[in-house]
Parts: sequence; structure tokens; C-alpha cells
Amino acid sequence: MTDFHLIPDSTWKEKLSSEEYRVLRQGGTEAPGVGEYTDTTTEGVYSCRACGTELFRSTEKFDAGCGWPAFFSPLAGDRITERTDTSHGMVRTEVLCSACGSHLGHVFAGEGFDTPTDLRYCINSICLTLEERPIED
Ligand SMILES: [Zn+2]
Repeated sequence: MTDFHLIPDSTWKEKLSSEEYRVLRQGGTEAPGVGEYTDTTTEGVYSCRACGTELFRSTEKFDAGCGWPAFFSPLAGDRITERTDTSHGMVRTEVLCSACGSHLGHVFAGEGFDTPTDLRYCINSICLTLEERPIED
């Protein structure tokens, strides 16, 4: 299996579009409301756009009205890594792809959403690729 953490920056730059690179590899954020998956309700699995690891499912996606795709849980806890982000004068929890270390978005807790976890994984559309397929539980 490829160790995506060993891929040099120059390769990511070639592999990704400049906007994908800015968000995934430089921790950027896409503008709210413009992402292709913000309001998507299609059944399927969302993978990391950088490395292809499956990260989220449509069954955990909910309408948070925040302008970005929101999930109340990742596909599996070990697929993502969370770390404290103190940029922009805020203390937030950054969400990264465990397999390749790419930035995905942030997770917010205790906002009062009527979901099983009351967590909001606020993920940039540009960090994901949706594969349409039935979800079986
Ligand atoms: Zn990845």
C-alpha cells in the first residue's frame, strides 16, 4: 500500500488543481455555498480527493445550513485525524485525512443539531469525491 505521507509536495502540486492544492495541502477553506456537495443528498461514499481513501457516507450527511457539506460522523474513526487549530484567532478542531494528511475541514461539537452525535464535521466539497452507490448497513 502506498504511504501517502511520503509523497512530496511537488507531486501533490502536479496531481491536484491549484484550488484543491490550496485547500487540501495548505489548509485552506473554500467559500461557503459554492462547493459542489453542499446540498447533495445522493446516496454514496465520499472519498479523499487527494488519496482516494473513503472518509464519509451520505447516511451521516445532514443539512446544517452552514454552506459546506456537514456530516455527524466519519465512515470510521480511524479514517480521520483531529488536531487543534489555533489559526485566525480561534481555537478549532481541524480534521485531516489519516491516510495522506490532507486538510479536510473542521469539526464542531455541541451546537444542538438533532443528530446522533451533535458533532458537525464541516468539510470542504473540494476535498471530497462522491461515488454514487447504495449504502448497506
Ligand atoms: Zn487522503
